[in-house]
Amino acid sequence: MNSPQHHLGQAMVGNWINGRASSSPSRAAPVFNPATGEIAREVLLSSAEETHRAIESASNAFVGWAATPPVKRARVMFAFKAWMERNMDALAHAITAEHGKTFEDAKGEVQRGLEVVEFACGIPHLMKGEYTEQVGAGIDAWSIRQPIGVCVGITPFNFPVMVPCWMFPVAIACGNSFVLKPSERDPSASLMMAQGLKECGLPDGVFNVIQGDKEAVEALLSHHKVAAVSFVGSTPIAKLIHETASRHGKRVQALGGAKNHLVVMPDADLDQAVDALIGAAYGSAGERCMAISVAVAVGNVAEALIAKVAEKAKAIRVAPGGQQGAEMGPLVTGAHLEKVRGYVDAGVAEGAALVVDGRALKVAGHESGFYIGPCLFDHVKPSMKIYREEIFGPVLSVVRVKNFEEALALIHDHSFANGVALFTRDGDSAREFASRIQVGMVGINVPIPVPMAFHSFGGWKDSLFGDHHIHGPEGVRFYTRYKAITQRWPTGIRSGAEFVMPTMK
Ligand code: NAD
Repeated sequence: MNSPQHHLGQAMVGNWINGRASSSPSRAAPVFNPATGEIAREVLLSSAEETHRAIESASNAFVGWAATPPVKRARVMFAFKAWMERNMDALAHAITAEHGKTFEDAKGEVQRGLEVVEFACGIPHLMKGEYTEQVGAGIDAWSIRQPIGVCVGITPFNFPVMVPCWMFPVAIACGNSFVLKPSERDPSASLMMAQGLKECGLPDGVFNVIQGDKEAVEALLSHHKVAAVSFVGSTPIAKLIHETASRHGKRVQALGGAKNHLVVMPDADLDQAVDALIGAAYGSAGERCMAISVAVAVGNVAEALIAKVAEKAKAIRVAPGGQQGAEMGPLVTGAHLEKVRGYVDAGVAEGAALVVDGRALKVAGHESGFYIGPCLFDHVKPSMKIYREEIFGPVLSVVRVKNFEEALALIHDHSFANGVALFTRDGDSAREFASRIQVGMVGINVPIPVPMAFHSFGGWKDSLFGDHHIHGPEGVRFYTRYKAITQRWPTGIRSGAEFVMPTMK
């Protein structure tokens, strides 16, 4: 078996179907090295026919896998957890090579992914049902959760390991088979994980990878053998996926974009809030769905806050993600860099004050890399495009408000509601905020409140379409269906045919 790294040496990133690498003549797209701006390799854009092959492979594998005892399914997860630990550096290296984030940040991503695998190791316990003896005279009843069939994951570029791991470990541990459609911008890590799962004893066909774009996605959404679709990506596509998959009768969860606010109260520990803002706004170059992109300065806190954030933002070390000491890497592609620059231009044109301007940044020796330095806007108004839309780059907007109620109203008026944070020393404000705020994930003096794997992750409003949050207990519910069984044995009480609704007398 090849080492996981060998996938980065391939000129063409292909598919993984029925336990082996697979590629058929197809369209292709370039995969860049964002640190240099060069094309590093290509990725297949699979046809509908090739996508159907992956679904058939998953469908064939489902019956045997669903019948495999949960404890044996869990053992594959235990082995895969150990595989991820052994291969953490290789996976992180692949992430940095294609996404651009720093190596240490990439390792953090792998760690958060493997924590979902750890959660999935507990599947025998998590899938236990409930039993009631004697629901009626001589009658017992119980409920169980059963796997649903072929599950599909469609994932974004910004976490090529962690976001797939939000989905497939739970889906597979529950007894389903899986087809992953990773982002075409950083596809290599998906093949490493496919190979790792095979090495850990997962039967062929239970986990498949189909590379591609719209054509592959449409084939997945409309195929009658697909039972459920998990999507994570931008809001317009999340909405489209939710509508299309629902129309085809699939169970669907579609997580969308974000504009996360961090509210700084006048009584907050200012240095703690500043450090939180710097890490949460500029870490991973702002390409996180839980990045903080709006600082809400309450009362008189703005002047001191902005001065400190500006000083630290200017000092951030922007360099290739693989370089020692790099704090922020490049953006994922040249097209995305242009989009982010366009937002900064728009902010200036709309009249916001650009306190830190990263647009001219050049990284010596890497002049063609997709870099932009940290940007900081003050006096941002809710009507501005840079406030309303998700930029997904290292751009922090400061909105000044008079008090707590105004901060709450501002956040409630936004269409996104993924994550939010409040920095304060006051317990009353903290409790009030956590209770009243209309957002899916809340941090109190915690800037990026990403729930651990044994809780569930998800936003509200335009940040999630569907009923279930992802991974954790919500993941187990999403990837299983509930069955209630009522049983009587022939030796029980016989009362003849009954024509009225059964009740307990
Ligand atoms: P994207 O929406 O462009 O792509 C996501 C996936 O959808 C990819 O696999 C892509 O190939 C596919 N896709 C793109 N256009 C499509 C189309 N027209 N039809 C069918 N499929 C299509 O998102 P991205 O740029 O890769 O990722 C960044 C976005 O993801 C941001 O908006 C970010 O907030 C969001 N995100 C959200 C969460 C969350 O948990 N809510 C987590 C990570 C990222």
